[in-house]
Amino acid sequence: MNYCIAIDGPAGAGKSTIAKLVAKKLEFIYVDTGAMYRAMGLYFTENNFDVNNHEDIVKACETADITIEYKDGEQIVVLNGENVNGKIRTEEAGKMASAVATIKEVRVKLVELQRKLASVQNVIMDGRDVGTQILPNANLKVYLTASSAERAKRRWKENTEKGIVCDLATIEADIIARDEQDMNREISPLRQAEDAILLDSSFMTIDEVVEEIIRLYQQHK
Ligand code: C5P
Repeated sequence: MNYCIAIDGPAGAGKSTIAKLVAKKLEFIYVDTGAMYRAMGLYFTENNFDVNNHEDIVKACETADITIEYKDGEQIVVLNGENVNGKIRTEEAGKMASAVATIKEVRVKLVELQRKLASVQNVIMDGRDVGTQILPNANLKVYLTASSAERAKRRWKENTEKGIVCDLATIEADIIARDEQDMNREISPLRQAEDAILLDSSFMTIDEVVEEIIRLYQQHK
């Protein structure tokens, strides 16, 4: 039986950083579901598809071929043959991802791919609906959060270290807007699964969160 760890939570809570480290320690495969929505958002943008036009949505779902590969332990999102990892990490791509993530057809397509990945290997998967929709029977579910001020501060620091000029208040406003959209959409809104363990990382270091998840895993094994 494969072991599945589901990590859900709002934007900028550190899910991917933590999940990657836990995956390495446990020798699990890390699956970043947000990257798939980002790739789908990119596809809409590059092809001038309208998220409000049903014909465009159907066309995009039929013609966007999204696959996942792993190179040196890193997840690579391949969109119609192109590695799009370098294009999907911007704030703009995050906003576009959140917009296409409200579309039922897009979710059906990506959830199928996500479940397939978890069916063949031990995974730690992060996103918004992993514990509630994608893997409702996951062995361990964690809802990872932090205050919006703390999440904005971390994003700001990350950007500044990369040389990206940004404004803390704008980042926090963007984070709050994205959470609003993700929590209030009709299909698979972001929420804590009933059997998920709440972890507020506002006052925890990355290492402390990783250790806590490993401890929970050992308890739930
Ligand atoms: O986690 P990340 O910031 O990359 O996700 C981008 C967007 O994709 C989220 O804001 C959310 O709208 C959407 N998403 C989702 N379901 C997931 C993962 C991401 O709706 N499982």
